[in-house]
Amino acid sequence: MADEEVPVLIVGGSLVGLTTAMLLGYHGVPSLSVERHAGTAIHPRAGHFQLGTTEMLRQVGLEERVRTKSLETYSAKGGIIAVESLAGRELATYVRELNEGVEGFSPTVRVFINQDVLEPILRERAIEFGATVQNRTEAIAIEQDDDGVTVTLRDLDSGDERTVHAQYVVAADGNRSPTRTRLGIGLRGHKQLSRSITIYFRADCAELLRDRNQGVIYVHNPELRGFFRLDRTGGTGFLVINTVGADVTQDSAIDVQSGLTEERALSFLRTAIGTDVPMELVDVANWQAEATCAERLRDGRVFLAGDAAHVVPPNGGFGGNMGILDARNLAWKLAAVVRGEAGPALLDTYEVERLPLCGLTVEQAYTRYATRVVPERGSDDVQPPVADIELEIGLVLRSPAVMSEEPDDGALHLHPSAAGGRPGTRAPHVVLGDGRSTLDLVGPRFVVLRPAGDGADDWAPPGATSHLIDAETFAEQYGLSPGGAALVRPDGVVAWRSRGPAGRDEVARAFGTAVGHAE
Ligand SMILES: Cc1cc2nc3c(=O)[nH]c(=O)nc-3n(C[C@H](O)[C@H](O)[C@H](O)COP(=O)(O)OP(=O)(O)OC[C@H]3O[C@@H](n4cnc5c(N)ncnc54)[C@H](O)[C@@H]3O)c2cc1C
Repeated sequence: MADEEVPVLIVGGSLVGLTTAMLLGYHGVPSLSVERHAGTAIHPRAGHFQLGTTEMLRQVGLEERVRTKSLETYSAKGGIIAVESLAGRELATYVRELNEGVEGFSPTVRVFINQDVLEPILRERAIEFGATVQNRTEAIAIEQDDDGVTVTLRDLDSGDERTVHAQYVVAADGNRSPTRTRLGIGLRGHKQLSRSITIYFRADCAELLRDRNQGVIYVHNPELRGFFRLDRTGGTGFLVINTVGADVTQDSAIDVQSGLTEERALSFLRTAIGTDVPMELVDVANWQAEATCAERLRDGRVFLAGDAAHVVPPNGGFGGNMGILDARNLAWKLAAVVRGEAGPALLDTYEVERLPLCGLTVEQAYTRYATRVVPERGSDDVQPPVADIELEIGLVLRSPAVMSEEPDDGALHLHPSAAGGRPGTRAPHVVLGDGRSTLDLVGPRFVVLRPAGDGADDWAPPGATSHLIDAETFAEQYGLSPGGAALVRPDGVVAWRSRGPAGRDEVARAFGTAVGHAE
C-alpha cells in the first residue's frame, strides 16, 4: 500500500515538468511534481521561446506577463548574428529580427526570456491550477504494474522516504534522466558533439553592443567558437563556448572543459569580448552538447518529456521549446484519460505523434550547430535546414487519433501558409470580428469550428464546444466549403475536418476517434 495516491506524478520540476503540471491543472487534473533542487532554475539557460511555446502561454493566460518580463531584460526585436568578437567585425546575420516573417501566422510572437525568470511564473500558475510541487524531493525508485506506478520519494533534508502511487508518471528529469536509464531506454543520434562550457558573467559591454540587435551573438575567432546572450544593458549575460582553437576538426578543439581554470575562463571571456572591459566571473557550467533522441517516449505508464526524451545543442533554441511541445501534446491526453473521457489508446498516440517530430527537430538543431559552429567538420550527415516557423507551428502529426486525408504526402513540416487546416497541423490563425484569433477559441476541451451561415445548431459532442465563425477568410484558411467543419484538439491541432457538408453524427464519430474511443 502506497502512502499517497495521485493521478499523475511528475519527476522533475524544471521547465518541462512545471509546464506539464501547469497544463494538467489547466485540464482539471491535479498532479504532484517532485524536484531535487531547492527551487527553480538558477541559470538562464533557455532564452529563446518559439511560437509553439508562446501560443501555449497565451492559452493559459500568461502571454502578457511573460512578454512584460521579457522586455525587462531583452529587446523585443533581438536578432541572431555572428561576430569575430563583440569589439570586432560582424561576420554574418542568421536572423535579422526575432519575429521577422511570422506576422499574420500567429496571434502571438516569439520572445527572449531567461529560463530562471520563466520557471517561477510557470510554477506559480501550476499551483494556481491545483498542482503540488515539492522541492528537495527526489524520486529514487519506480515500479509499475497494470494498475499504476509506485514511486519511492526521498526528502533530501530529512532523509525520510515515502511511496506515492500514481496512475501515470511523466519523467521530465532532464538530459541525464535517471528514469530513462532505469527503464533502459536508449538514445539515438549525434553523441558528444562537444564538451562545452557556459560562462556566466558581469561585464561592461554596453558600448560594444552599440545599436546591435543583441538576442544571440555568435562568436567565431581563432581562439574559440560559441555564442553570447547579453541582457539589454550589456551588463550581464553568458558566453557558451563549444570549441577552442583554430582547427575545429581536431578532437581536442571540442573539449573545452579539460584544463579549465578561472583564469582560462576569464581569458576566453576577454577574447570573446575583444577588449579589456571590467568583467567578473559569476559561475561556469560544464555540459555536453549532443543531438540525441530517445528510442521510445513511453514505457507502460511512464512517459518521457523534455530533455529526458531528447537533448539538442542550444543552437536554434529548440531544447526547451521541444519539451514544451511534448508537454502540450501529452497533458491533455493524460487529463482526458484520467477524467475517464478518453480511452487509454489515446496515450499511445503521444509517442506515435511526437517521436518522428522530435527526431526531425533534433536533426535540425544539429544542422544549426554544424553549420553555425563547426562548418569545417563536414556536412555529410547534416540535413538541409528547415525554416524555424515550420518547426514551431508547421509540424504535421500523424496517429490513429488524427484523421489524415488521403493521399498523404508524408510531409513532417509545412509553412503555416500551406497547412490550410489539414488534419495533423496546428489550426490556422484567423482574426475574428472581435480581434481575437481562432486559436483563442481553443480551450481545455475540443472545439468544433464551422463557417457561419450553416445554421445555429450546436454540433459539439459532449465534452466539446462549438463555434460558428463569420470571419471572411476562415472557410478558405481552414479548407472548408459551406457546411464543412473542423475539429480542433485542446493542443490546437486539427484532428479532423470535413471539407464539404458534414452532419452532427459525423462530427461525433470523429470526436470519438480523436479521443481514442474508436472501434
Ligand atoms: C546554454 C544553454 C542555452 C539554452 N538555450 C535554449 C533556448 O534558447 N531555448 C530553448 O528552448 N532551450 C534552450 N536550452 C535548453 C533548455 O535549457 C533545456 O532544454 C531545458 O532546460 C529542458 O528542460 P527539462 O525540464 O526537460 O529538463 P531540466 O531543465 O534539465 O530539468 C530536469 C529537472 O529534473 C530534476 N531531477 C532529475 N532527476 C530527478 C529525480 N530523480 N527526482 C527529482 N528531480 C529530479 C533536476 O534536478 C532538474 O531540475 C539551452 C540550454 C543551455 C545549456
